[in-house]
Amino acid sequence: MNKTDDLPAHAPDDRSLRFLFEDTDIRGETVHLGDAYRDIIALHQYAPAVSKLLGEFMAAAVLLSTTLKFEGKLILQARSEGQIPLLMVECTNALEIRAIARGADQATSTNFDQLLSKGQLVITIDPDQGQRYQGIVPLIGGSLAHSLDSYFEHSEQLSTRVWLAADGQRAAGLLLQQLPPQLTEDTAERSQQWAHVSSLAETVQDDELLALPTQTLLYRLYHEEPVRLFEPAAVSFRCSCSRQRTYNALASLGPSEVEDLLQELGRITMDCEFCNQQYHFSREDMGEVLGEPGGRTLH
Ligand SMILES: [Zn+2]
Repeated sequence: MNKTDDLPAHAPDDRSLRFLFEDTDIRGETVHLGDAYRDIIALHQYAPAVSKLLGEFMAAAVLLSTTLKFEGKLILQARSEGQIPLLMVECTNALEIRAIARGADQATSTNFDQLLSKGQLVITIDPDQGQRYQGIVPLIGGSLAHSLDSYFEHSEQLSTRVWLAADGQRAAGLLLQQLPPQLTEDTAERSQQWAHVSSLAETVQDDELLALPTQTLLYRLYHEEPVRLFEPAAVSFRCSCSRQRTYNALASLGPSEVEDLLQELGRITMDCEFCNQQYHFSREDMGEVLGEPGGRTLH
């Protein structure tokens, strides 16, 4: 690949970049998050270790979403008995992300195994059309990256490895994945190529992953291999909540629940836990649910 003289000193934020090793059946992807990450954590008061972990989950969700071949979203969820009971990131095929750590107000630890003790990682692929797929693995090895490595190792997929880093300001990740045999048919040669490429990635430090532009990083790691870089794709923070969806959730409670809430509160206020957006519903707004004539509908 080319020399890296004219590159920016820092990796451009909020984008993912796909690359391909020209001589082997291996592809890769990097992601760098800046504003998208900071905007999400700015909405909550997380402990630094929680923000850091959330950043790694966001980077991972983007990397995994790039393997989606359909319209829909990927949901990465950690459920645990530790200081973070639930951590969730959603990423659409358009690389719009939202994320939350729920119940983590008391988190004091900086240790992965304490934050997510007895944790499970749930990976859900939710296409707009068609069947949902869900995979569940234990959170192990003291990091999300190791847990994902083990997930890929145990699912019957192509070899895949993930590296992740976050520091509260930036989050980044690197994914390597073997492609079906095309250039190299020989199994032994394929595994040798995979071992070579992934062992070099093993040497990447967190600060390199966070700061270096993809081209610089790849040059440092693989200056002897021809690597083709594709056009970057933008990543953004975008919440999928809406007044209509919130109304639907409220309506699904049924008339008596809605009546109780109105009696108690005068009007109903629903907060989106991802983006803090508030939605207000008056008795008039809920007329159709309550079966009151003349009620205003939202449809
Ligand atoms: Zn929202």
